[in-house]
Amino acid sequence: MNRPVDAHCHLCFDHFRRDVDEVVERARERVLRVYDCGVTPGTARRTLELARRFEGFVFPTIGLHPPRAPRMQDRAIDEIVRLIREHADELAAIGEIGLDYHYVKRSKERERMREVFERFLRLAEELDKPVVIHAREAEEDAFRILREHDVTAMFHCYDGPPELARRIAEEGHYVSLSTIHVIRGPTDRTRRLLESVPLDRALTETDSPYLSPERGRRNEPANVWRIVELVAEVKGEPVGRVVETTAENALEFYDR
Ligand SMILES: [Zn+2]
Repeated sequence: MNRPVDAHCHLCFDHFRRDVDEVVERARERVLRVYDCGVTPGTARRTLELARRFEGFVFPTIGLHPPRAPRMQDRAIDEIVRLIREHADELAAIGEIGLDYHYVKRSKERERMREVFERFLRLAEELDKPVVIHAREAEEDAFRILREHDVTAMFHCYDGPPELARRIAEEGHYVSLSTIHVIRGPTDRTRRLLESVPLDRALTETDSPYLSPERGRRNEPANVWRIVELVAEVKGEPVGRVVETTAENALEFYDR
């Protein structure tokens, strides 16, 4: 394995509607495989379609975007659950799911978000799938709730406390490092965080189309190299070893 994995992105979003073939072509040259994430009934169907079209390269996950959970109709959530059940065999994981206290402030809405999170965790237990967790300014709560369930998780785009990252790893889960750290540059905080994640529990991702290392641009999976290189630099490891270990971790974490 001499190419890294993009462990979380959204090629199913409209941002890629026009030129997804070229984006995947560029990714194939530089990346081993990508895990694509649908977060609405529409994007969920699209990620399944991309996985069929780029078989063996694009692998689908389905969940929802936690900040939107409080305002989503039950019907839309039921529809996502139905799609997950119906396509469980095709899915690499359930997610993203989780908690976002950055965007959701009101206690009633947070309560609803936690209920939805737990509904999906129970579904993952039932279907025996790993979960992709979105936790923003809510990492401690998400981890506490996760631990009440018998599932393996990756914390996608992790940007929480370094000590918590270590605990997540110690309990057998994964911490996914995104290009957000490249945008920030190697600040002291970024260094502490990257150092606290053991390499054998680290994943790498772009969260494309978001978090482009180039300001104002659309991100794409080929850019996953940028975070791989930063991890290597901060940890003082050869790039090749970071590529190989994080790619192995992704294959081990996901259900394919
Ligand atoms: Zn995402």
